[in-house]
Amino acid sequence: MSDLTRRTAAELAELLRTKEVSSVEVTQAHLDRMAAVDTDVHAFLHVNTDEALAAAADVDARRAAGDELAELAGVPIAVKDVVVTKGQVTTAASKILQGWVPPYDATLVTRLRAAGMPILGKTNLDEFAMGSSTEHSAYGPTRNPWDLGRIPGGSGGGSAAAVAAFEAPLAIGTDTGGSIRQPAAVTGTVGVKPTYGGVSRYGLIALASSLDQAGPVSRTVLDSALLHEVIGGHDPLDSTSLAGRATGYVDAARSGDLTGLRVGIVKELGGEGYQDGVRASFEHSVDLLRSAGAEVVEVSCPSFDYALAAYYLILPAEASSNLAKFDGMRFGLRVEPEDGPLTAERVMAATRGAGFGDEVKRRIILGTHALSAGYFDAYYGSAQKVRTLIQRDFAAAFSQADVLVSPTAPTTAFRFGEKLDDPMAMYLNDVATIPANLAGVPGLSLPSGLSDDGLPVGFQVLAPAREDVRLYRVGGVLERLLTAEWGGPILDRAPELEVAAR
Ligand code: GLN
Repeated sequence: MSDLTRRTAAELAELLRTKEVSSVEVTQAHLDRMAAVDTDVHAFLHVNTDEALAAAADVDARRAAGDELAELAGVPIAVKDVVVTKGQVTTAASKILQGWVPPYDATLVTRLRAAGMPILGKTNLDEFAMGSSTEHSAYGPTRNPWDLGRIPGGSGGGSAAAVAAFEAPLAIGTDTGGSIRQPAAVTGTVGVKPTYGGVSRYGLIALASSLDQAGPVSRTVLDSALLHEVIGGHDPLDSTSLAGRATGYVDAARSGDLTGLRVGIVKELGGEGYQDGVRASFEHSVDLLRSAGAEVVEVSCPSFDYALAAYYLILPAEASSNLAKFDGMRFGLRVEPEDGPLTAERVMAATRGAGFGDEVKRRIILGTHALSAGYFDAYYGSAQKVRTLIQRDFAAAFSQADVLVSPTAPTTAFRFGEKLDDPMAMYLNDVATIPANLAGVPGLSLPSGLSDDGLPVGFQVLAPAREDVRLYRVGGVLERLLTAEWGGPILDRAPELEVAAR
């Protein structure tokens, strides 16, 4: 069998269904690939060799016994380390959770296990999912498989890099302001942020509860649709979970028809500040959509200009409250002050001082300030008003267009260190992705080509809440047209990674 790690999840599922390969073989192939390249890429914080192979053997046995299995049964997956996994270390890439072993599974993990999908390991991220480069991980950055001197995006750089480096056919990401879509854009992969409430948040280590959503990371639009149907749907354990089941995504990804679809280009998400090669790639994809029968219009969402500012008040405010539970008493790290009395407050201060990184501390300080009496109305209250205006802009835009499109990120992958000391420059990576989180609408990023620097560019599709099917419909068609032009998947253009001798 030719290299199993090069297959898409849909292809692997078919090979497994027809018993041409076993899940143990597929899983082992990916574990071997990890052993060969992950020293360089560092997509994984923890590898679950034994558990993954045991899960694979179990699904193989069930298939042999003639049990009815889920579509993706036997296809292995990587999970971002901000999603809790029972019995397996989960750290959110923070020192404060070093060695913490959760006593339960996130709902989405329960669903992966029920579908018979072996979990290869846990992927790297910016600490507590705060960042756009994975440089804020307490365990060292992930490197972009396209150029090991560049960032893989963030916060979910590990999940995107694992999929781009063929270490996993699929991965789970989380997206609070773009952490699924922006890493997908800069690594040449596909990432989907579902409608808020579409995938259960139960068992996600919360960053900002009103913005967080988990979703698929993959190499094709169809693969994301397949995974979305596994993890999505109502969960009584999440009070913000939407009713109903997650269906229709796979059909939409395969539908291949855009006739009569109205595509809106968001005026505010493009132009100045966007790299030339990013703009050119975006415009080419728009032309392809037009050639496929879509009607293209321009829409204006003036409040989007304030989205970044509103996000960086709302997110820190919610994060400062969510992170208050890391107090040295309940989970993970506990540091006692070197001298003086051993009071709860002093243990808490010593633990949080040692356990949190700079970016996390920056946001906690910002968030507590924005929420403090006297400043609440000026900061948090104003940001919430802007949020309402952004939702209204979306509503108006979606009355003129069925989907909205933009570049996913203003630039291609930048070099390590380039933006690390300049939080504002780092935050600007998310200008195009943040509005969707503030409004709860779904978004997808797929590769639209290479920029003039030879690095991948992401194309973002946004749809109204609960209309995730439209993302897959548009993404499926565009992907087919683009890959026909390229003569194969974009990742075939990435340089081969040096394979370590084992
Ligand atoms: N980069 C954004 C931030 O730093 C988004 C993070 C995310 O989506 N988790 O907040």
